[in-house]
Amino acid sequence: MTDPRDDALLERARALDAADPLRAHLDAFADAPGVTAYLDGNSLGRPLRDIPEKLAAFVRDDWGTPLIRSWDEQWMTLPMELGDRIGRTALGAAAGQTVVADSTSVLIYKLMRAAAAADADRTELVIEAGNFPTDRFLAEGVAAETGMTLRWLEPDPVHGVTIADVEAVVSARTALVSLSHVDYRSGALADMPGITAAVHEVGALMMWDLCHSVGVIPMQLDDWGVDLAVGCTYKYLNGGPGSPAFAYLRRGLQGVLRQPIQGWWSAADIFAMGPAYVPSGDIRQLLSGTPPVTSMLAMQGMLDLIEQSTIEGVRAKSQSLTDLAVRAYDEVLAPLGVRLLSPRDAELRGGHVTIGHPDFRDVTRRLWADGIIPDFRFPDGIRLGLSPLSTSHVETITGVLAVRDALESGDF
Ligand SMILES: *Cc1c(COP(=O)(O)O)cnc(C)c1O
Repeated sequence: MTDPRDDALLERARALDAADPLRAHLDAFADAPGVTAYLDGNSLGRPLRDIPEKLAAFVRDDWGTPLIRSWDEQWMTLPMELGDRIGRTALGAAAGQTVVADSTSVLIYKLMRAAAAADADRTELVIEAGNFPTDRFLAEGVAAETGMTLRWLEPDPVHGVTIADVEAVVSARTALVSLSHVDYRSGALADMPGITAAVHEVGALMMWDLCHSVGVIPMQLDDWGVDLAVGCTYKYLNGGPGSPAFAYLRRGLQGVLRQPIQGWWSAADIFAMGPAYVPSGDIRQLLSGTPPVTSMLAMQGMLDLIEQSTIEGVRAKSQSLTDLAVRAYDEVLAPLGVRLLSPRDAELRGGHVTIGHPDFRDVTRRLWADGIIPDFRFPDGIRLGLSPLSTSHVETITGVLAVRDALESGDF
């Protein structure tokens, strides 16, 4: 199905792939027979090719033979060690401030609840009406539990939250502002240092949800004074379905904020088995119970690749992929009435590009059947999620052309 109209676009994509300094990493990911374009790495990253072998070795050498001894030898400290590694590789966070645990939803609850209780004079939580549902639902739950008032931001749906939007609602009553770094729908990238500073201006705490930015956008949580952050590891960190989340708590707030699910793993001495709870006072206090060790395995190979590439290198490739997607959109999709629902400027955009058309629900179903896998977001958006280390420029163009072909033929 080569259409001579497409030669120039495909030629450009091939040239960009040939010049891509990270192209060797494409081979590190497992083959997916029948899939010609995987454009949903921002929802579920692909497995690395060596995962089956690593899982088998884990069962044999770490679990099967040492048995319970592996807790002492390596697993007790894994949530903190892996947290430090994510912090160093992707967050700009010094050691001792990040842990791997639970799911993003559970960690959001723990941190929001802790921040809500931090200062009795501060009774408002600021959240965004377009944020991912779990973030909004959890804030509603925390507000119901604590009697706090929710203040909703309603920013521009394509360009996302600005400093001025935040300044307009925060005050001496604000306890916490909780926002996504990259908008899960539009891909808009928020000004993390600017917004964090505006929130600190009124003495409130700032929490960032990094689900759509960790592993693809460089950030400096320490230097930018971020108080709290959470993120997924199954999106751009390729940890596999349901791999645990991570939380960052600035050192100055450790031992000050108290998260509500104070299980034995958050206690000062896990094995004291004493009569009363004594909190650990360090980052481990964010844990609750036994960590999901098996699910922490797959992300480690992806962290290796990001370290080799550097997060800045990953970002450069991401911008190259999303720029190409936007150029291809201009050439072949805009003429068909498709709308661009992401910022045009790569500096203001995360790792995905969203496009809109009333027929996209049906088009997506057709594309999936044909091995072209973007995702659909209500009401009429297709997200082209371009995970930089596992996605080529040719794959990106293949996806955009498949959308055009489906719309042109009306066959969906
Ligand atoms: C993916 C995502 C989540 C997912 O939360 P889980 O608890 O892992 O299901 C939460 N927030 C945002 C912004 C997301 O993009």
